[in-house]
Amino acid sequence: MSKHHIGIEPIIELPNNKVYSWDFRPKKEEIILTTESFLKCVICEEPIEPNINGWTGGNNPFPVSENGRCCDSCDVDVVLKARLQNLGFSEQQIDSIIAVQKDMFINKKPL
Ligand SMILES: [Zn+2]
Repeated sequence: MSKHHIGIEPIIELPNNKVYSWDFRPKKEEIILTTESFLKCVICEEPIEPNINGWTGGNNPFPVSENGRCCDSCDVDVVLKARLQNLGFSEQQIDSIIAVQKDMFINKKPL
């Protein structure tokens, strides 16, 4: 099995051999991942590629979708925007927050 297989519980093996996991339970049909078969984003339907940390499990798309996982790009552009709108942020505030998130996690620029 390739290193992208995440098994029943998502676990990240850190360089110091410690194991980091968290309370996240993907549906059974979503947990078989190989380097040849990534999850498909539930929003844009593109394959979810490994993020900067090698994580291939994507992101929680709620409230845009109650099922599946979404890619990093949709996580910021669609899901984060929807969450901030629900919280009552202005469009200008939302644009600023999204710009910072994109620089950090998608364009990988340090602050
Ligand atoms: Zn997407």
